[in-house]
Amino acid sequence: MEVTSRAAVLYGPENLRMTSVTIPPIRPEEVLVQVKTGSLCGSDLHAYLGKLPRITFPRVLGHEFAGVIHQKGEKVSRWQIGQRVCCSVDIACETCEPCRQGRRNLCESLETIGFERDGAYGEFVKVPQRNLHLLPDTLSFEEASIIQTLTIAYNAVRRRGEVMIHDQVVIIGCGPIGLCALAVAKASGAKVYMVDILEYRLDVAMAMGANQTFHAANADMVKIILDIGGKRGIDKVIEAAGGDQQETLLMATQLVKRGGIVVVAGTFADDVTPMRINEIKSRELNVRGARGDVDDFPACIDLVASGCINLDKMITHRLRLEEAEKGLRMMMAKEEKVVKIIVTP
Ligand SMILES: [Zn+2]
Ligand SMILES: [Zn+2]
Repeated sequence: MEVTSRAAVLYGPENLRMTSVTIPPIRPEEVLVQVKTGSLCGSDLHAYLGKLPRITFPRVLGHEFAGVIHQKGEKVSRWQIGQRVCCSVDIACETCEPCRQGRRNLCESLETIGFERDGAYGEFVKVPQRNLHLLPDTLSFEEASIIQTLTIAYNAVRRRGEVMIHDQVVIIGCGPIGLCALAVAKASGAKVYMVDILEYRLDVAMAMGANQTFHAANADMVKIILDIGGKRGIDKVIEAAGGDQQETLLMATQLVKRGGIVVVAGTFADDVTPMRINEIKSRELNVRGARGDVDDFPACIDLVASGCINLDKMITHRLRLEEAEKGLRMMMAKEEKVVKIIVTP
């Protein structure tokens, strides 16, 4: 059965409008989720500004969300209408080589809800049953809509960064991915130093358990961190800033120890970003990318529901879906100490 959904539709760069869209009937293996909360993301902002080539228009954005199962397809047996869920948003082909090797995040023809498919900035969104994850009653919809961000940080910190107990970790960038990475690294028993250029974000990082924070404008910052770390260098550095700058990867290679790991989790505006190539060679640095999530929703849901990780402090604003554009503009201007904005349809 077709459903009408009030949604925020992106018609082109900086052209986001609330309108009524018709969602075609769900397929046998799909469910229709009634969205309770969404969370605005930096990549939504890139899409809004026309800086995300994978987006075609018109598109309902929204890939971080939680809700309730409203309809289910005829082949959906494990799920019930009314169940509270959050969703992984990557839809892999399941047949290409990376998929068959269990690396679905590297699928050769990956599609993502909210990018190649219509997303959750509306009352309803279609989701394949394989992508559903049940929410415990103790987990709020608001926190659940940040789980997707947490899974990306989990991949960067645990899988790609191999962060373990007693590691010294520097995370460059205190945006949502960086703060989630902090939470995962702390839960892993690491000592975590956070770097940013915004004072209020360093405050959030402190409140979320950072061992120490550093303002990136401090010219001696690298030296100070290396002194604290015992001069040998930092075990693991997670780059979670990206964007329109060229300093953070240079900083990461200066900070990391011989044979250490640098994880690139940030998305850079410029594809050609300088790195210290001779240091990578002579000090045998491991520079690794981190992309998306690797089926870590159950672990991340459990970490938050059990109280081991607390995402509350990241939620700085709550808006109605009609105000999504205002929220994106607040993120762009980094106004009002914004970290994570929750939107409610
Ligand atoms: Zn996101
Ligand atoms: Zn694939």
